[in-house]
Amino acid sequence: MEIDFAAAREALIAGLRLEIYDERVLRAMRRVPREEFVPADLRRLAYDDRPLPIGHGQTISQPLMVATMTEVLRLRGHEKVLEIGTGSGYQTAILAQLAERVVTVERVPELAESAAERFRRLGYDNITVHVAGPKLGLPEEAPYDAILVTAGAPRVPRVLVEQLAPDGRLVIPVGRRSVQQLLSVTREGDGLRVRRHGQCRFVPLIGEEAWPESDAQEY
Ligand code: SAH
Repeated sequence: MEIDFAAAREALIAGLRLEIYDERVLRAMRRVPREEFVPADLRRLAYDDRPLPIGHGQTISQPLMVATMTEVLRLRGHEKVLEIGTGSGYQTAILAQLAERVVTVERVPELAESAAERFRRLGYDNITVHVAGPKLGLPEEAPYDAILVTAGAPRVPRVLVEQLAPDGRLVIPVGRRSVQQLLSVTREGDGLRVRRHGQCRFVPLIGEEAWPESDAQEY
């Protein structure tokens, strides 16, 4: 049976409205076809509000979490955004609707390659994809007006704060391996201002100021 993806997408957005108030975020979610970002055999589940496996032990995030993180970033349209953890590229595509330019970094080369191919096919022209280097983020292209990390870290990595522009905002899940708090971090004078936005569950962020390579487990 053919699936009516447009109708399924509208039903998902109607559900998101109960928790997401920023109309711009909802509009962006309406414009991105999530069925194009999930593996072919899981397309029928594309508009269930849950994460799905995308191979290499990684997942495409739950739509509500994508919308929440995007809302917390409070993009206005002129920003250069860094995303860490491209994965399927779904979150990247949402950010690309709301910012001027998105730089996204992925640790697994095969995922970076298939996301780049997907962006080409779908016509997103303000996204650049990079395979992650030894340092978290992409210091070569810093500073960024906003940084979004879509994997969980044990603490706020200093190396990412350093890549923020003045008044920039870092959104990152921080906590244990199994469960984290979504934090937004802004610079304030010499210190950091941290706000909490509720509990979340992400795959581990791997790197020097995050979890060791051995934590990049397969699902
Ligand atoms: N936003 C993605 C979520 C993917 S899961 C989506 O919705 O599809 C998180 C991703 O972070 C995984 O693909 C994982 O490989 C990647 N990752 C983990 N540590 C990383 C690092 N240090 N740099 C870049 N990507 C990393």
